Amino acid sequence: SEERSLNFIEQIIEDDIANGVNDGRVHTRFPPEPNGYLHIGHAKSICLNFGLANKYNGKTNLRFDDTNPVTEETEYVESIKADIKWLGYQWANELYASDYFEQLHDFAVALIKKGLAYVDDLSAAEIAALKGTPTEPGKNSPHRNRSVEENLQLFADMRAGKYPDGAKVLRAKVDMAHVNMHMRDPLMYRIKHAHHHRTGDTWCIYPMYDFAHGQSDSIEKITHSICTLEFIPHRELYNWFIEQLNIFPSHQYEFARLNLSYTVMSKRKLLQLVNEGHVTGWDDPRMPTLSAFRRRGYTPSSIRTFAERVGVAKRDNLIEIGLLEFCIREELNKTANRVMAVLDPVKLVITNYPEGQTEDLPAENNPEDPDSGHHNLTFSNTLYIEREDFMEEPPKKFFRLGPGLMVRLKHAYIVKCDSFEKDADGNVSTIFCSYIPESKSGSDTSGINVKGTIHWVSAAHAATAEVRLYDRLFSVENPAAEEGDFKSFINPSSLELIPQAYIEPFLLDAKVGDQFQFLRKGYFCVDPDSTPGKLVFNRTVTLKDTWAK
Ligand code: ATP
Ligand code: MG
Ligand code: MG
Repeated sequence: SEERSLNFIEQIIEDDIANGVNDGRVHTRFPPEPNGYLHIGHAKSICLNFGLANKYNGKTNLRFDDTNPVTEETEYVESIKADIKWLGYQWANELYASDYFEQLHDFAVALIKKGLAYVDDLSAAEIAALKGTPTEPGKNSPHRNRSVEENLQLFADMRAGKYPDGAKVLRAKVDMAHVNMHMRDPLMYRIKHAHHHRTGDTWCIYPMYDFAHGQSDSIEKITHSICTLEFIPHRELYNWFIEQLNIFPSHQYEFARLNLSYTVMSKRKLLQLVNEGHVTGWDDPRMPTLSAFRRRGYTPSSIRTFAERVGVAKRDNLIEIGLLEFCIREELNKTANRVMAVLDPVKLVITNYPEGQTEDLPAENNPEDPDSGHHNLTFSNTLYIEREDFMEEPPKKFFRLGPGLMVRLKHAYIVKCDSFEKDADGNVSTIFCSYIPESKSGSDTSGINVKGTIHWVSAAHAATAEVRLYDRLFSVENPAAEEGDFKSFINPSSLELIPQAYIEPFLLDAKVGDQFQFLRKGYFCVDPDSTPGKLVFNRTVTLKDTWAK
């Protein structure tokens, strides 16, 4: 599995190790903002950061990037930790950017003393108006040339709570004519009288991303700070702060963020879906969050395999959801026991099988796994089969049931359709068949060859369950790229609820999270909504890629 060539970040790391950079030490970090649940894009970043540390004998920190007091919550911190562990990774240190608030403040004071930072009284709009454009230089703020003493006093007053939100900011004094707009005296601190989930009311000034991230990396002596492409223009500022402060030189590297077709990947948008009731919660199995994939029946290894196959790109692209589905399908094919479940039942009566008689038939659990053993099915004269497996007027190559047609009942006998009945609405209500006693699976001496095999359950012995079939949450490939509200592209039939499917009674012992292949119907897992009397199954994925049709 390690036969692929190195990705560009591995190449950088191997060069650094060869050159003795940081004594060959590799230390990465995963820096989530605790303002939502992790999604599959974060999983890509987790697998990359932790995967590199594992490969190069290094370490990965989990650092909560909690510099914005307004949107962050402890609930999110807990869910993030649970999701990373579930993916199979363990961080070296659990850290919080908010732990560095005092240190970051001291860094700011050091820059003020060097004449490299100043307090500005302009409003956000006034600052924006002086910023210039990519082709025109900006203009200096009238407060740019305050003395060091005055700046130190004003910054201390900001910290002490003397000013309301937005009254003042601390800015780096770089160059208002810089070609990189991010270098035009960027903000370092803003005033926000808000309660923070960890520091409470200790602070009313909070550092901006650009004045927190690189310094946090440096404090932790992170060697390779990996982020997504939109941070390329921030890299110059990241390096500038580190140089001016003369602190440990962490380096930033950028890769393409993961975008997945038929979904959205921004926490802000996912939060809207939750808050406006388009889904039942962050873990609704249609969501692209890790908690949703877990509930839907995706395994950690299927997601790690997916992240590996996606690779590490330098250009943004849209990955087919089909690739993720392929990864889980491939795994479940090897691990999931096969069972029979009828989702849309119609009754089948075998007229030459004695009423009240039953027999146990062995069913192999998994033909892909010789050690998986078997379980028993109960056969009787009244079964349920799938409504779509019968046609009143079947076309030529319909190898299932219709008047006069023969089919094999999986693990049981060959039956021939003799007649059928309809109800008052014109729907087929009962199919009458005769069975071939010599055609029993495993000891078939009938000499009859049939092309089709269908699944079934015995009507008197079947249990019932609720089954939830999921489809894409959005009906367009890239909802975030469409014009207008992304929510107008929600697929109205992303959930098909089957209140009463018939399942083998074998399944009644299943526990939440257990996974099965329902023959011919896909892979399913037991949902946490299940209660002792009532199982609920989620379809994880179909057996084949049916989307292309
Ligand atoms: P979102 O836009 O979904 O809110 P974010 O980047 O603001 O994402 P963070 O919590 O800051 O969310 O992300 C933590 C880490 O995960 C960052 O290093 C970020 O670059 C990375 N990350 C986020 N989304 C993706 C993605 N789609 N693909 C790869 N990495 C991602
Ligand atoms: Mg972020
Ligand atoms: Mg974000």
